[in-house]
Formats: sequence, C-alpha cells, structure tokens
Amino acid sequence: MKRIFFTPGPSQLYPTVYGHIQKMLKKDLLSTSHRTVWFQETFKNAVSGLKNLLQIPTDYHIVFVSSGTEAMERIIQNSVSKKSFHFVNGSFSERWYEIAKELKKDPKKEEVEFGKGFHKVPTIPPGTELICFTHNETSSGVAINLELIYAVADKYPKALIGVDTVSSAPYVDLDYKKLDYVFFSVQKLFGLPAGLGIVILSPRALKKTQLLQKKGEAIGTYHNFLNLVTAAKDNFTTDTPNVFDIYLLSKVVADFQKKGIGKIRKETEEKARYIYNFFDKHQLYKPFVKDIQDRSQTIIAIHVGKDGGEIKEKLEANGMTIGNGYGPLKDTQLRIANLPAVTMQDIKNLLKLL
Ligand SMILES: *Cc1c(COP(=O)(O)O)cnc(C)c1O
Repeated sequence: MKRIFFTPGPSQLYPTVYGHIQKMLKKDLLSTSHRTVWFQETFKNAVSGLKNLLQIPTDYHIVFVSSGTEAMERIIQNSVSKKSFHFVNGSFSERWYEIAKELKKDPKKEEVEFGKGFHKVPTIPPGTELICFTHNETSSGVAINLELIYAVADKYPKALIGVDTVSSAPYVDLDYKKLDYVFFSVQKLFGLPAGLGIVILSPRALKKTQLLQKKGEAIGTYHNFLNLVTAAKDNFTTDTPNVFDIYLLSKVVADFQKKGIGKIRKETEEKARYIYNFFDKHQLYKPFVKDIQDRSQTIIAIHVGKDGGEIKEKLEANGMTIGNGYGPLKDTQLRIANLPAVTMQDIKNLLKLL
C-alpha cells in the first residue's frame, strides 16, 4: 500500500511529480549544466508559468532562493534599514520577527495569542519600512483575512508590504498590486521535494534595495535581490541552483494550469469544509481554531488531547502520516495539510479512522 502524507511540509508529492522525475533521469537532465539554453528555457517556463497561474503583474520580478526561511532573511536585508513591523500569531511569524532582530534591525510587533487571528488595523510607528504578514500561520492553523492586509497597505502606503504564503500558495488568491514581497517554498502545497524558495517582488521593492545599496548598507551578496533580478533577466541564477526543483516546478505549474487554478481552489475549500464539519460535530476532537473567520483552508489544526500519540499510530498502521501539533502542542494537537495532492477520497479515508 502506498503511504500518503497529510503533513504540512514536506508533504505528499503531487501525483505527476513521479513521472517528471523519471523523465529527468532518463534524459540526463540532472547532470545538465545550469549555463545552458535548456536551463534558460526551464527557468523561463517556471517564471512565466507562475506569473500566469498566480496572475502576477508583468512588471513584478520572480527570483529563486533555497527556502522560505531564506526568503524571510533576504527580504529584511533588502528592504529594511532599521524599522520593520510584524503581525505575530505563531512560530513562523515570530521567526520572521526574530530574523529582523538577529540582523540588528529594530523590529516591532503586533502580537495575538496562539490560535487567534487579526481583526483590526493597529497603529504602526511612523517610518516603518516593511510590514510583515504570515498569511497562513502553519503552527496554529490560522489564516489572516486578506482584506485586513489590504487595509493595512492602504493606511500605510509608504511601507513595503511582505506576505509569507509558504503554506497557502497557490490556494491564496492575492491582489499582488497591493503587495511588495510574496514568498513561498515548494515542499508544501506545490507538492515538490524541499529545497527551493520563490520570492515575488514589486518594482518598488527593488528600488528600495537599490537605495539601501547606495547608502552603503549590507544587502547580502550573491542572493541579494539586485543580483538575482539581474541574473533572472537572462533566465540565469547567481549560483548553481536547485535545477531539480526548478524543472519540477515548471512542470507542476503547467499541470496546475491544465487542471485550472479555480478548480484547485474550489476543491481546497470543499475539502476544508468537509474536515471542519467533521470535527465541529466530533464528540472528542475539535478544531483548534475556534473563530470560523480565522480558520485556515490549507492547514487544519485539531485538538485531540491525550489521544494524539494513539491516533498517529493508528493512522500510520493504515498507511497515513499526519502532522503533529507544533512546539508545546506537539502531542495534544494534530495538523492536517489540505493539499492539492490530496483528494476528497483521501480525506474521507483519513476521517473514517477518527
Ligand atoms: C514552512 C514554513 C516556513 C519555512 O519554510 P522553509 O522552506 O521550511 O524554510 C515559513 N513560513 C511558513 C508559514 C511555513 O509554513
């Protein structure tokens, strides 16, 4: 029996990935240089495919880094001289804030309790250069309403707006024009092997990096956005990149397009509704996020109390791997990743055992 992963990263591979990997091996693509026309075409297909799939404005840039966490660091380095502001409601949003501190910036945060979301526009200090949102807080299963993000962007037009969509892209349907940095990595909803991060940046964001460079600030070296964007103009990278993942990304993006992003989003919501309904009615196990408007469609956290270990074992015995709770909730919570790679039938098979 083939094992199926409902884990929030690395996750179940998208079903077409197996065939794409076989083709790479058969055609010796993994030994092919990243300084070839073949690579340039692969790079171009990945970038134009993403722009099409996600409806990213044509004047926005797309660059590749090694992970979501790297994207957090690069964004701070390339946009903030001193002041960033962070909406913190869990471990990943907190990580972004900590990265700003480690880089010797002076970050501020608006913080709410684990499992809660944000519902009003806070006062953000004057001179804030970058405002950071974690759209889908994977640690708690909370998603931020996009209207709140846009309201903050409207109220603070001078600040750049950064959004982590690592565990919600490509489900989340963003208005990129209102945003300056959006990033994700590929081992979650894209269903690819880990090791590639994607950063989408606005022309305004790139200007800010130029300004910091002119002022003599440290913006990093080979992976600063100026060098990455310059290389990307020729469909190249500044180092030997994860060719494996860039190729697979170009293929899976095409597969998503063939299926239709609208259909993927609709199916995601149908599966999420089914899961939340199931647990809202469950005698023992309840959705961890109480407020319906805060609930993530893609990472569903369930409070299971002392039964956590037992449930995991039972699922494992039936060929299913599910996510633990995060941090201190490791044993009392489970997380179900509602991925494009997972069908309604897979979800029904999982819930039957609960
Ligand atoms: C997984 C995750 C990250 C970290 O991404 P990596 O690619 O593992 O570095 C960041 N933010 C969120 C919301 C995540 O779920």
